[in-house]
Amino acid sequence: MNNLESRDGERAEEAEQSSMAASAMDGVAAAALRSVLHRVQQAAERSGRGPHQIRVVAVSKTKSVSLIREVYDSGHRCFGENYVQEIIEKAPQLPEDIEWHFIGNLQSNKVKPLLTGVPNLAVVETVDDEKIADRLDRMVATIGRKPLKVMVQVNTSGEESKSGVDPAACVELVKHVALGCPNLEFGGLMTIGMLDYTSTPENFKTLANCRSEVCKSLGITEEQCELSMGMSGDFELAIEMGSTNVRIGSTIFGAREYPKKQPK
Ligand SMILES: *Cc1c(COP(=O)(O)O)cnc(C)c1O
Repeated sequence: MNNLESRDGERAEEAEQSSMAASAMDGVAAAALRSVLHRVQQAAERSGRGPHQIRVVAVSKTKSVSLIREVYDSGHRCFGENYVQEIIEKAPQLPEDIEWHFIGNLQSNKVKPLLTGVPNLAVVETVDDEKIADRLDRMVATIGRKPLKVMVQVNTSGEESKSGVDPAACVELVKHVALGCPNLEFGGLMTIGMLDYTSTPENFKTLANCRSEVCKSLGITEEQCELSMGMSGDFELAIEMGSTNVRIGSTIFGAREYPKKQPK
């Protein structure tokens, strides 16, 4: 059986559009995305889930609007950026039905330009203290946009260079977001594993443990607390360990060190 048949709704449409694009002239990035979606599907099956239960955020930082457009035209709708300046320049040049995820370190003074510059911002994945949560909460109210979904970033590797709340302080911050920020919608937990992957499985395990504590403490189900973990080098492992949201850049768009020519 064609596994794509098991996809539903939006994903089925996405898959169909991908294969249509594949049969026509297909760009490198769109082809790479198809291959990623296939690997995601297989990893999902190994973890006893369907591919529609895992969201692929195509991380387009440093990549041109035209390359993003190519991936969009192949049917993909979810993209991620990690610099405010970059996302507010690109988003207005791209279709409004893109679901943007902000995945970078967010400073208080950038909250207003981010929210006003990207009306179709779907998620901020990187809330790591109460101050930034409060600032987002107030700005959503000020500009009158719909409630903003946020994730709490957890520093699971203990590296000082990484942003994120300490795992031990995770529940407290989640409570603040869920109970004290009426204009934010708590969506789940996010982490970046160690870059050399040596302790990545432990990092992912730590995030899953944080979710158990959060769910117990807030009285919510695991389905109400997503796990954003997994990047180009480790997304299959992350999915097998329960990830619901993988953030994939270079495997789709090519290495960032050697950017393609950037036609505007
Ligand atoms: C850049 C980035 C990614 C994507 O990294 P790749 O290894 O290129 O897939 C994922 N998450 C965050 C937070 C990033 O900054």
